[in-house]
Amino acid sequence: MNTFAYKRSSSVNDALISIGAQHDAKFLGGGTNLIDLMKMGVEHPAALIDVTRLPLSGIEEHHDGVRIGGMARNSAVATHALIRQRYAVLAQALLAGASQQIRNMATVAGNLLQRTRCFYFYDPSYRECNKRVPGSGCAALNGYNRIHAILGVSDRCIAVHPSDMAVALAALDAVIQVRGPAGERSIPIASFHRLPGKTPQIETALRPDELIVSVDLPAPVGLRSHYLKVRDRNSYAFALVSVAAVVDLDSGNRIRQARIALGGVAPKPWRVPEAERALTGHEANESAFRQAADILVQGAKTLRYNAFKVDLARRSIVRALSVASERA
Ligand code: SF4
Repeated sequence: MNTFAYKRSSSVNDALISIGAQHDAKFLGGGTNLIDLMKMGVEHPAALIDVTRLPLSGIEEHHDGVRIGGMARNSAVATHALIRQRYAVLAQALLAGASQQIRNMATVAGNLLQRTRCFYFYDPSYRECNKRVPGSGCAALNGYNRIHAILGVSDRCIAVHPSDMAVALAALDAVIQVRGPAGERSIPIASFHRLPGKTPQIETALRPDELIVSVDLPAPVGLRSHYLKVRDRNSYAFALVSVAAVVDLDSGNRIRQARIALGGVAPKPWRVPEAERALTGHEANESAFRQAADILVQGAKTLRYNAFKVDLARRSIVRALSVASERA
């Protein structure tokens, strides 16, 4: 690991001044991903600006929804009464991620910013990785690409975003509040994570000198929801495919509104509004869910080892929607 400077911030303004004053500095939250990457030689920040003591860990009602502080720990969010009662899909997604010890450390902001677990990205002994070394190539394209993306990929990068939490936030239409030298701005989660295109090293709309201060959840479209995570082992593993489903049904079992987001299949939580619109007005049954699933995976591009994800995603979408619809 390289040597680096360390500074603990006393306020949000202090943190913003510190990050602006030091070239190649990064904010330090729970450190559950960044410190690993520094140890592996993937990240080499010159300075860490510790923001964990800032008063940004509240979880409270906000307008008709809930505001979650950027420094709220994943375990605190997952067990909070407001989240469990009104945003159960988020609590489920958080509890499906990592381990209890990691959830106790990891922050909401850090979870949004966590980086791909592509084997080739994580191991600098592989020379080819456009995300780690722009222009070097992509070892995964012709390598062992079983965990890689089938949607939203480019010929520069096929990595998936690893977060469970972000998938639930996408289904809940969360809005990320960030603060930087120019003030505060709001970024809808749909435009927070970027597709790789020709610049896979640029992963989010967040600028290097901006801090995530909170995540706002609007009132959910429905209270029937489910987070389904399919993985190689039942604990402490990243998703091969995951689905966050939220539905609102009328008294005749017809779908008034639905939200579906996929994880494990794309460089960002994957939503296709057309699939959600196709469900509106339909009876909540397997045939309607299959139709939505087909729309969601349209345009999938598979490689040697990851073609299984297309059918796995279809089946997972149908199952997640079925379970969500059957909830009381
Ligand atoms: Fe790097 Fe992306 Fe290719 Fe993985 S998929 S090796 S992260 S460029």
